[in-house]
Amino acid sequence: MVRLEAVIFDVDGTLVDSERDGHRVAFNAAFEEAGLPDHWDVPTYGRLLRTSGGDRRLAAWFEETGASPEDARELAARLHRRKTEIMRQVVEDGRVQARPGVVQLLDKLDAHDIQVHVATTGTRAWVEPLLARVFGPRFQTVVTGTEVTDLKPSPAAYLRVLELTGCSPTATVAVEDSANGVRAALGAGLRCVAASNAYTRDDDLSGAALVADGFTDPALVAWFHNRLPLPTSQHS
Ligand SMILES: [Mg+2]
Repeated sequence: MVRLEAVIFDVDGTLVDSERDGHRVAFNAAFEEAGLPDHWDVPTYGRLLRTSGGDRRLAAWFEETGASPEDARELAARLHRRKTEIMRQVVEDGRVQARPGVVQLLDKLDAHDIQVHVATTGTRAWVEPLLARVFGPRFQTVVTGTEVTDLKPSPAAYLRVLELTGCSPTATVAVEDSANGVRAALGAGLRCVAASNAYTRDDDLSGAALVADGFTDPALVAWFHNRLPLPTSQHS
């Protein structure tokens, strides 16, 4: 069994439960502020999540509800800028939390000197404060949708992390929560562990080496445990 050297994490829905209580809330606040009647309830937002990237999600929604493609794109771009600002505030208010078991896994990886990186399609303006606030300075390399605009399921963000870190794909694993994320990881030649959440439980995650219910799932805990290097004390 190949021992792990590095783990690359997705952010939204993986490290943090950001979709329902973070992004959805920020999108709705942006609609309201702009005087628009649109509102995304929990099930509607779940369906819209199949489109990755907030501005593309907005544009798809406006087209679906009758705007011309051009108007939809223009309105989406404007609202997305404001939504990003609101999302920063939501993060600063401490409303986005680590998923249960994530911090324990990060601590364990750190104790074994395994590198941890981030590959996300999220915007750097809220990703950075979120990671700092919720996790502190743990992640060595953070690639966001601001630098890599080719969004998941494109493997571009993962390929960029591999390029920047020089990590070997065979000793690196990605952790994702969604079908688009698993496809992105596999496309970069990585193995992927899927930690699904309430929004992605019905996604096709079959390409993953393991599909777990979350980070407290004993199958996920054991999967990582079995791939950790032996503690240095046991070598001597
Ligand atoms: Mg995700």
